[in-house]
Amino acid sequence: MYTCLFRGGTLVDGSGQPPCRADVAVTGNRIVAVGKKIDGLATGIIDAGGLVLAPGFIDIHSHTDTTLFRYPLAESKAFQGVTLEVTGNCGLGVFPVQAGREQELADFLRLHDFTLPEEWLAWSDFATYADLIDSLGLGIHVAPLVGHAPLRIAAMGMDDRPPTALELERMQSLLAAALQQGAWGMSTGLIYPPGSYAATDELVALARTVAAFDVLYASHIRNEGEGLMAALDEAIAIGRESGARVQVSHLKAMGRGNRGRGEEILARIAAARATGVDIGADQYPYAASATTLSAVVPQWAHAGGVAVLMRRLRDPALRERLEAEIGQAMAAREGATGIMVANIRSERNRGLSGQSVAAIAAVWGCPPAEAVIRLIVEEEGAVGAIFFSMSEEDVATILADPQVAVGSDGHGLNAAQAAGEATHPRSYGTFPRVLGRYVREKNLLPLASAVHKMTGLPAGRLGFADRGLVRPGFAADLVLFDPAAVNDPADYADPHRYATGVVHLLVEGEPVIRDGELTGKRPGRVLRKVRV
Ligand SMILES: [Zn+2]
Repeated sequence: MYTCLFRGGTLVDGSGQPPCRADVAVTGNRIVAVGKKIDGLATGIIDAGGLVLAPGFIDIHSHTDTTLFRYPLAESKAFQGVTLEVTGNCGLGVFPVQAGREQELADFLRLHDFTLPEEWLAWSDFATYADLIDSLGLGIHVAPLVGHAPLRIAAMGMDDRPPTALELERMQSLLAAALQQGAWGMSTGLIYPPGSYAATDELVALARTVAAFDVLYASHIRNEGEGLMAALDEAIAIGRESGARVQVSHLKAMGRGNRGRGEEILARIAAARATGVDIGADQYPYAASATTLSAVVPQWAHAGGVAVLMRRLRDPALRERLEAEIGQAMAAREGATGIMVANIRSERNRGLSGQSVAAIAAVWGCPPAEAVIRLIVEEEGAVGAIFFSMSEEDVATILADPQVAVGSDGHGLNAAQAAGEATHPRSYGTFPRVLGRYVREKNLLPLASAVHKMTGLPAGRLGFADRGLVRPGFAADLVLFDPAAVNDPADYADPHRYATGVVHLLVEGEPVIRDGELTGKRPGRVLRKVRV
């Protein structure tokens, strides 16, 4: 007796093979049969006629680490067909927590717009964090990476210097402990202090530990603008020297000077792969990025932590230099008109959310760089921003590459609860945007390739043996969607709008979405990589 039988649908199985007509049967939390026509009894028979059945989408690049405490159902992701979130990206992780360094880690995470829950001091490592997350009752699965920043903060705080041999050993042993407990790899964020303070040899040393565990080294590379090629070369070198599997996060060509370089960066990665470096990439399908506004503040100003940063930003003696360098950093992106301020927490400045830095500067009657400093100081660091700094052509070029996975770089949010916060629409629209806008409307890539980029490809990069494909024996994480209706209504002006077109979503064989509606079921859990 099957618990669920999908009949008469179009199967896109995640391997990249062309779509075909097939029935799929599920018993409990596993797929048990795939075939042209499956007979037999089932508790639930789903007429999949006219619809596409695919493996649940894997968001290889998310930042849902602490939003799960507020939104354990990760609704904005579930409605996109996502059944698995990979967290801990861009070097931004919430463990390990070193006794005595809690405040430094909390300040760092706040600067990156993380809201730490009350109970955050109850975890210290991967295992205690994972147990706590599990106790929330999740809608979809989570697979955490270890962030490089918390490792570095645990070993040496926010210091701008190379680690001593002992400190490096400490980072390696903390990393190994988390991987032993079941983490899926390590991430770096090499534009953000303290990750940016790490030289290549420190990263190679840590990537060797990653390689020893045969997991993923995911990197927000050191420069996505002028220094893009050198930064890519560094990622390639880290892969070559360590033997680790490398994932370039949110691949893009940023800033005016980089327009049209999409082909070139893909060629660089393909050439490295041809010489034996196991390197891949992921991307979100938008021409704007989003991160902390403090990303335009020079790295030296961050040394020592957030409290010192605030002191420097208020210091009249440093003002001229800071404004000049912030001005340059904005110009390298797309200037003050291309930066939209988001996620403001204070009452007094909330009205500025959704406005450009240029507009805010005009209201305040000051230069844009001064407005940036004032905002960061008044918000104690916690200001998000959306940067309109890529070309649509490059986004499409990179998206068309069958070897680049899809990853949102966003969060799992509840639209009603998060309403009113300016945020990037990618948290709501990444996957349906690829399927609707780029596959159906623009015909940029075949449906089977797009689905592979969301399922089999990321599952392979992460080392999942039983997810990412529709095969007997694989986990029953499945999405049934309407290829004619799948859409992403979320945009920059109105981001909190759920995607449309997902009819059913199964996580571990349980319906999280049924007939387009959330069921409230919570079959999700933290997936721990089993060491063999
Ligand atoms: Zn990033």
